Amino acid sequence: MRFSRMLIPTTKEVPNDATLPSHIYLVRGGFIQNVGGSGLYNFLPAGKRVLDKVRAIAKEELDAAGCQEVDLAFVTPAALWEESGRYEKYGKELLRFKDRKANDFVLGPTHEEMMVNLVRHTVKSYKQLPLNLYQIKTKFRDEIRPRFGLMRGREFLMKDGYSFHKDAEDMRREFDLMEQTYSRIFERLGLDFRIVEADSGAIGGSGSKEFMVLADSGEDTIVVCDSCSYGANIEAARRAPKPAPVYGEDEAPEMTRTDFHTPGVTTIDALAEFFHIDPHHLIKAVAKKALYDEGIEKIVLFFIRGNDELEETKACNAVDANELIDVSEEELRAAGLTPGYMGFNALPEGVIFRMDQELRSEENLIMGGNRDAYHTIGVQMPDVSEHYADLVAVQPGDVCPHCGGTLSHTKGIEVGHIFQLGTRYSEPLGATFLDENGKAQPYEMGTYGIGISRLLAAIIEQHHDDRGCIWTPASAPFAVEIIISNVKKEAEREAGEALYKQLQEAGIEVLLDDRPERFGSKMSDFELIGIPLAVVIGKKLADGQAEIIVRDGLERTDVAMDALRDEVIGRL
Ligand code: ATP
Ligand code: MG
Repeated sequence: MRFSRMLIPTTKEVPNDATLPSHIYLVRGGFIQNVGGSGLYNFLPAGKRVLDKVRAIAKEELDAAGCQEVDLAFVTPAALWEESGRYEKYGKELLRFKDRKANDFVLGPTHEEMMVNLVRHTVKSYKQLPLNLYQIKTKFRDEIRPRFGLMRGREFLMKDGYSFHKDAEDMRREFDLMEQTYSRIFERLGLDFRIVEADSGAIGGSGSKEFMVLADSGEDTIVVCDSCSYGANIEAARRAPKPAPVYGEDEAPEMTRTDFHTPGVTTIDALAEFFHIDPHHLIKAVAKKALYDEGIEKIVLFFIRGNDELEETKACNAVDANELIDVSEEELRAAGLTPGYMGFNALPEGVIFRMDQELRSEENLIMGGNRDAYHTIGVQMPDVSEHYADLVAVQPGDVCPHCGGTLSHTKGIEVGHIFQLGTRYSEPLGATFLDENGKAQPYEMGTYGIGISRLLAAIIEQHHDDRGCIWTPASAPFAVEIIISNVKKEAEREAGEALYKQLQEAGIEVLLDDRPERFGSKMSDFELIGIPLAVVIGKKLADGQAEIIVRDGLERTDVAMDALRDEVIGRL
């Protein structure tokens, strides 16, 4: 391809909503273009080339693993979503609309319902199983905060796959196969990633893993162990129970249960100071409003140690809510609660609560007395209660549940998610097959996603410098760029054109910068666009030489013209 003919609108201008290198360089490098609304992007020719590379690698590996590509309608009937019970649950990310006949539709944010619907009408017998169907297709989610360019768009390209099995064992086999297949895809793309345990949402179940590209700019916090391979999204991370603090010479505090007048002492810090006690022995109440189907709202209180933080996803799962939102002091008072003094004894009707599982059987704790200006001391936690749940965020320094090592936090970009679904969709949608005994059974299912367009951003987050993109060999829009330093010089132009032809004949994807521009601006474009290798045909041609530049590190080597073709091919 000739640069002079290609639409690559590079610019020095930084988009004003951009903070991340990937967002800045993908726009500045002429890969993508915002469409005047947040989270909507056009892919320009260079961007489309990268997108196709990523997509092709995913397809190759998936097909090799026995998956079959399909292409389902993007506009999907709301009736299917009502059948699965997600029409309401999905919340505002789901774009709902009516056609001219007033039928309800949604723009597919994910395709479980559609794929189950396809299979329930076409597959009848266990003999046709297992089946793994996928598509690489536009998705629409009306994200509350679309940002960071391709990282969190509203319209984006996803690979979504769904597998169907006769039993759970076979589904788990496929899940493991997908874990390996996804690993190969991300390895081929040249990414440094980690597979972590993930939240399975309200669906529950143990089998959910995320593929996280390690990058400081990642939106996800992941918990990793310093001495074993344990890794988990903070939403699902576990730890060994937090040990009690050491009080120097003293023993841990002991107290008899009683109500204590504590006027004005309404925070954990104030309470710790008032009682000269470590927050480990204080019970913190975190109030939220839980949202359910049909507009139902409930006030929920989560009780955790004073030195812990609530993990919202865990908390949301613990009360089976669609979402948790903040609740005001006025709303708490109206519900009969006393902010600053909330405990779980004698709660007003309608208020639900959960207690962190690490508080189980603990004694000598201090908690709100559920009346103004009183705390209860000497609280003894029950041994058994249906209100216990895992509610807290694992903190750096906590202890690994597997090996006793030390846990720390790091940041990741979620590029893939694999999920053991079980019969969550097949059952409500009545998708069954006839087993060996002629009995109808719902499919055991798995679901597997990759953020294809997000991967472009993830690659650049991990591979860039202060001048621009550094595409990995497998993702680069071209393998090599030839820069003719000065196209007005006949000899330079001829040498550049000749090499261009030779490399093309060798089947190499090559970009020839044949524009009548200053050399300096062509070099800056090369650095910004980030093709892995450049050959500069310039002044050194007089000595029978050209210069090869490796984009990653910008290392330069002089190569004799007659060895140039082989040298370039050898490096690729
Ligand atoms: P996130 O937590 O980042 O919102 P998710 O859990 O909603 O992701 P999934 O429903 O598992 O994502 O979707 C599969 C994959 O699609 C994700 O792993 C991610 O790579 C990608 N993805 C999800 N939402 C977006 C988005 N708004 N823009 C670009 N890619 C996305
Ligand atoms: Mg999401």
